[in-house]
Formats: sequence, structure tokens, C-alpha cells
Amino acid sequence: MQTPSDLYRLLPSVDELLSRLRDDSTPHALVRDEARAALEEVRAAIRSGDAPADVAAAAVEKTRARLEAWRRPSLRPVLNASGVILHTNLGRAPLAASAVEAMARTAGRYSNLEYDLALGRRGRRDVHAGALLERILGKPAIVVNNNAAAIYLALQELGAGGETIVSRGELIEIGDGFRIPEILARSGTRLREVGSTNKTRLEDYREAIGPDTRLLLRVHPSNFRIEGFTGRPPLPALAALAAERGLPLVEDLGSGSLWDLSGQGVADEPPVTASLEAGVSLATFSGDKLLGGPQAGVIAGDPALVARIRRNPLFRALRADKLIYAALEATLREFLFDNYEAIPALRMARLSVEAIDARARALAERLGGCAEVIDGDSLLGGGSTPAQTLPTRLLAIRPAGLSTAAVERRLRTGEPPVLARVADDRLLLDLRTVFPDQDAALELALRAALAPARD
Ligand SMILES: *Cc1c(COP(=O)(O)O)cnc(C)c1O
Repeated sequence: MQTPSDLYRLLPSVDELLSRLRDDSTPHALVRDEARAALEEVRAAIRSGDAPADVAAAAVEKTRARLEAWRRPSLRPVLNASGVILHTNLGRAPLAASAVEAMARTAGRYSNLEYDLALGRRGRRDVHAGALLERILGKPAIVVNNNAAAIYLALQELGAGGETIVSRGELIEIGDGFRIPEILARSGTRLREVGSTNKTRLEDYREAIGPDTRLLLRVHPSNFRIEGFTGRPPLPALAALAAERGLPLVEDLGSGSLWDLSGQGVADEPPVTASLEAGVSLATFSGDKLLGGPQAGVIAGDPALVARIRRNPLFRALRADKLIYAALEATLREFLFDNYEAIPALRMARLSVEAIDARARALAERLGGCAEVIDGDSLLGGGSTPAQTLPTRLLAIRPAGLSTAAVERRLRTGEPPVLARVADDRLLLDLRTVFPDQDAALELALRAALAPARD
């Protein structure tokens, strides 16, 4: 039996680790620091009576692993078998191939981002998506970092120093603690809540309008839904009231669909143009939700108001990057030419149950007895209403000899990582959000995760 001091003596020195692990592509100081940290890990294990069998080999291995970890990207692709199309934690919309190409083309070279090539002088970055947005929406639009920034900027310009009237039923929290009321407060406007949580009448807005009122705000009820005795005035009526009082009506649409999804069974997601046609002064929406593009926020509507917001100094602070313009422009072009199938999020939303069923059955057959195919629901996600589901077919797996939780963890921590759902002690995989060219990788990952316990 070796004592701790025997074990300490068996440890290699930092110099020995350096000479073993140093190579031309790894800086000396990095190897040295990781060797020190690895040695400290092994010493701690020895101290706690948990020493590895071969402490010298463990020190080498730990140093190697620490160096390897620095080479591995932290942000990496994930196979999304959750069936949530716009999964905020998984990067929302996967981009169209044309958008990826546009980003790659722009990323490593100079571009005419803010240079007017015809006139030979400074230009504006908004022109790159501006013309397409105006063509598609019928109104001018500007782009900022995300929809939260869009709302903030619109309210800062139009509402600061005065009151913003909003229905109590629309003061919502969107995922990870983003609360509309807090954005409102930071923009310098005072919130005037009207109506009750479940019902707001046109008269409630009318009575609240006073000398300090700067705008009316309408918020798309994104990730919650009040069932039953509910109501809010129709958009045209609210727009007419705003116009009568000479006040802007701003609508935060959240997802901001560019085409009518009701044919896909998606209710409550009116296209942006419907809001603008109903008389909304400004609509704001995300680039990476139902638009299927990069993270961005769009402010579209009344030309004079858009121009005012464009001149706000915060526009500069919230501006979008050139890669975003490249991807957004390419995505919008797919819309203009009706190439909905080119936009992955829309293609997934339009997949038929039969097509998903066929792929799920083929996979279940190859996996053998533990897998079956059952009915289920895919989710639109991205903060859309929880009720926005699409019928799907799920691959349901009841692992043999392993807990469902263990298999889920193996999938999640494997390469590539696979995200699945767990319900009723079964693993549920929805191929709607798996790209068909990933089916083979998914099968391999499942085989590995379902293999008998290794530890
Ligand atoms: C998602 C959402 C936002 C936030 O949009 P981001 O682009 O994520 O900043 C704001 N309002 C509503 C109603 C939303 O659904």
C-alpha cells in the first residue's frame, strides 16, 4: 500500500509534462499552466484518498484533456429532436443555405456595408435589408439587434417623458426573465395599465388617454394564453382611436410572421402586413422567430416615425452587425420569391405528418424492439403561444436495462449532442426538427446511448 507521500513522489514535474506534451501548435505557457492545474487536481485526489491507480499517467492524461478542451469550440451544433422548431435555447431559427452563404461571403472580406459604391461616398447599412423589407411589408423598416431592442428603441423615442397606455393583460414576461414592463420603464416612459388581466375594452383605453399620453402599446400575447372570458378590442378599433387622438399605436408582434400560417394550422399568428393594414403605426418583431432568419429586431411602419427612430442616438448603440444584414437580406429574398421551403423553420412547420411518420418508422425499424411510433405534438416555440402546436409522429423509446434519464443524459452529452423529450418514462424524439441529412447521425447516437451500461 502506497502512502500519500509515495504517490506525490511518483508525480511527474511540470517540466516533464512540458517535454511530453509540448508541440509546435501549443504555446509553452499554456502547456505549463494546464500541467500545473492537472498536477493540482491529482494531488487533491491523493489528499482525499481517491488517488488514481497510476498517478503519473493520470497527470499526463489530465493535462492532455485540459489542453484539448481549449481547442474544442464551446458553441457547437446540436441535434434537435425536441420538436420545438424555434427553440430559444438552441439558437432559434436555423438559417437558410442562402443566408449561410451570404454570411460566409461577407465575413472574411471587406464589404460595402456603409459605402455607397455608385456615389463613392459613405452610405447607410440599413439599405441592405431596407428595400426588401419595404417591398415585402409595404412600409419602411429599420433593423436593430433583436425585438427587445426594437421595442426599447421605439418606446424611448416615442414615449420617454410621458405615458404609454397598455392593457394589463399584455404585460407579459417572455422566457428568461425578459419582462415587457421593465423594458418600458427603462425606456423612460411611464406605464399606464388599463383593463383587467382578462379583459380590456376600447373604453378603458379612451378613458386613460390624457395630456401626458404619448402612445398606445399593444403586445402580442406570446407565451401565455388566458382561456375563457377574455377580450381586447379589435386592432382596427384601437388604431382608429389612436388616430382620432393623434397618438401612435405601436404593436410588439413577437414572432412577426411574413406570411399567413393559418393554412399550417397555426392560429393567432397574423402576418405583419395584417397589423400594418389594420392601422398600426409601428410594428416590431424578431428576425429569428417565424421570419426564420438571424437574430434581429425589425421596426416597420409609418415613414415619419421610422425616420424619427432612425435618428435616435440609441439606434447606433443597438445597430445590427454586417453578418446579420447579410443573412437577413438573403432570408428576405427567399420570401420575396416565395421560396418558403428554403427557410428551415418554415419548411419544418410545413412538413406533413406522413413525411415525419415515414422517417420515424424507418428509424424505429432499424432500432428494433425498444422503439415505436406514436402520435404527438410539435411546438412552434420562440415564445409563441403554448397552444401553437402542430400534429406530429414521435419516435418513442423505452430503454431496456437502462433508465430513461440515463439514456437522455448520454444523448445530451454525446457527440453530436442530441436533445430529446422525456415523458411517461419514455424517450420521445420528434423528427420534424431533425434535418433529414441528420437521420443517420441520430441513429448512430441512439445506438450508442442505448448500448448496455458501460460504467
Ligand atoms: C420573443 C418576443 C420578444 C423578444 O424578442 P427578441 O427578438 O427575443 O428580443 C418580445 N415580445 C414578444 C411578444 C415576443 O414574443
